[in-house]
Amino acid sequence: MELIGQAQLDLPAQTLATSAVWWAVPQELRDRLQQAGHNPIEGIIGVRNLMLSALPAIAMCDRRDISGQVDSSNLGQPAIFVYDRYPGGVGYAQRGYQLMDHWLSMCRRIVATCPCESGCPSCVGLANLRPPLHQDPDLGAGYAVPDKAATMLLLDLLEKHREG
Ligand SMILES: [Zn+2]
Repeated sequence: MELIGQAQLDLPAQTLATSAVWWAVPQELRDRLQQAGHNPIEGIIGVRNLMLSALPAIAMCDRRDISGQVDSSNLGQPAIFVYDRYPGGVGYAQRGYQLMDHWLSMCRRIVATCPCESGCPSCVGLANLRPPLHQDPDLGAGYAVPDKAATMLLLDLLEKHREG
């Protein structure tokens, strides 16, 4: 438990040219989350996490074959990106895009049937793919669990938005 030194890391940015599916969360939906007393980004992160949990069952891949980001720098507004973790992509994100309605309804089912009250790693939380993070306190605290109610509201709003 002794600090033996600190130094700036100088690692180059990594680039992965792959394929992804993404959707920008419209301002109108973010406003509705805000008006309901939620932090919109919590709902967005919750939906991203659910999409990552549900896609392996749709695309027949392993959870570690895909990853996801919430990012505003590409589209000028918050957007969810789900991508294949292989150069060039291998079709998992594309499969999700083709089956978007099914994908989103799986997300709704996962969160609606979870018996937790305000969110847990089985629904809106992100599955931890590196179990040592849970066992070694020096490796960090894992991922925060976003607001379940905000996530459910965003999924409902999204469904109505897509229908309308
Ligand atoms: Zn839960």
